[in-house]
Amino acid sequence: MTEVTERPSFAGRLYARGDDGYENARRDAIWNGRRPDRFPDLILVAANADDVVAGVKLAKREGMKIGIRSGGHSFSATGVRNGGLLIDLSQFKDIEVDTAGKTAWIGPAVRANELGPRLSEDDLTFPYGGCPTVGLGGYILTGGYGFNGKSLGAAATNLKAFDMVTADGELIRVDADSHPDYFWAARGGGYGFFGVIVRMQLTLHDAPKLITQSMITYSVDDFEEVASWFLDSLDTFDPALMTLVFGHRSPPDFTQNVVSILATTYTDDQERTDQILKPLVEAPIFSKAVFTQIGVPGTLQEAWDQVDLLYPEGHRYLSDTCWIDDRGYAGFVAAAKPAFATLPTTGSHIMMNPWIPYERDDSALSGTTKLPFHIYAVGEDASQDDALQAWIDERMAPVLPFSNGIGKVNDSDLLVRDQSVMSAANAERLEELRRKHDPEGRFHSFLRAGAEG
Ligand SMILES: Cc1cc2nc3c(=O)[nH]c(=O)nc-3n(C[C@H](O)[C@H](O)[C@H](O)COP(=O)(O)OP(=O)(O)OC[C@H]3O[C@@H](n4cnc5c(N)ncnc54)[C@H](O)[C@@H]3O)c2cc1C
Repeated sequence: MTEVTERPSFAGRLYARGDDGYENARRDAIWNGRRPDRFPDLILVAANADDVVAGVKLAKREGMKIGIRSGGHSFSATGVRNGGLLIDLSQFKDIEVDTAGKTAWIGPAVRANELGPRLSEDDLTFPYGGCPTVGLGGYILTGGYGFNGKSLGAAATNLKAFDMVTADGELIRVDADSHPDYFWAARGGGYGFFGVIVRMQLTLHDAPKLITQSMITYSVDDFEEVASWFLDSLDTFDPALMTLVFGHRSPPDFTQNVVSILATTYTDDQERTDQILKPLVEAPIFSKAVFTQIGVPGTLQEAWDQVDLLYPEGHRYLSDTCWIDDRGYAGFVAAAKPAFATLPTTGSHIMMNPWIPYERDDSALSGTTKLPFHIYAVGEDASQDDALQAWIDERMAPVLPFSNGIGKVNDSDLLVRDQSVMSAANAERLEELRRKHDPEGRFHSFLRAGAEG
């Protein structure tokens, strides 16, 4: 453990390992009930940007590496490493909206369900993620695949400017013109970003006047037919229709595996909503549905409430993910079916939510395709972990040959299965920029095997 020669005073709290409050602060930084045995030497629960500047300077003086926590929802708890300093930004909750300019400055620990109600007051919106309690800091950096995202774009590309503390402890303002390297890296660089963002300016959008939810459930025996129809239809879906092939167990007794098409529409009127829902109800497979609920008007909060049911706090989450190659889905459906048919626990689930391929000069975000494959195993006790990991490994194996070899950083566990999380060119550029702006490696990068400390 690093011994600190001199502790600066902070407006927030600095905990050393062994201090009262240290373990609470460490556990609080990890939403997943499957908390890793990794222990930073110091945890700084920062109160303001000056604390962050002083924390980075302390780490530099003491030769410590830095991990970062905003909302604490990284599945793999990537910010919590062995040794060094964990900078906890959970107090950074300010929200300041410029209604006329359609922008907002927010603290990185603001959660979707804290920003949502504030923006709704002004009929504005942002491509929030499905989980209401995810921190917008990590969500935006990792891409941010959210509500109405096919129309509004990934959250990362709606990051307009930010204030950050560099590896030298300097507080700077970044936008497309000032410090473009940082701007590019933050927009999709994910857990590989090399600085601490203390405030973010977001591009906002007009809120849709009508949100509807639909659910069409099929027996898992019909998976091939459902998935084949869905993949054949992908390109015909309206961007304002966010769909999801969802493998889950069916209520109320949660013993049957089923596959549901979930669909949310974001429009301004009923006529357009009806129009864009048409492909779902006119699908040849529709008559085989065992449950249907079409176009029920709802609110953002109701959508979050439903997602929240999937992710009870304290449960143990294991996940893996990959982007499916766009060059054709022949063979993929058969390869994916065993995963849908063998969910190991009540809460375990699979998602395929169509997306948009990204390759832009202004963002590190890349490697995405039209379809991600996400697999989540959910347990309640540590004794289940090995079996759940084995299930994921076994069910991912036949799917991987159909992927483009790139994972989704926010749901990939790179300790279990290392893979790139952006295009090769962008991964290389990110590392070049790290060498330039963080030559001493002050900030932890992606949590891969051998990088726990
Ligand atoms: C239940 C659940 C549902 C989810 N749903 C979605 C979804 O619908 N769409 C989607 O895209 N993602 C989703 N995610 C993934 C989520 O976006 C990522 O896990 C994200 O990283 C969480 O952000 P956080 O700030 O809460 O995480 P944290 O654990 O606090 O941060 C993770 C890492 O992000 C980086 N980071 C965070 N804040 C900063 C900062 N201020 N400055 C510099 N680096 C920073 C650091 O590397 C940090 O270690 C979901 C996750 C969960 C647990």
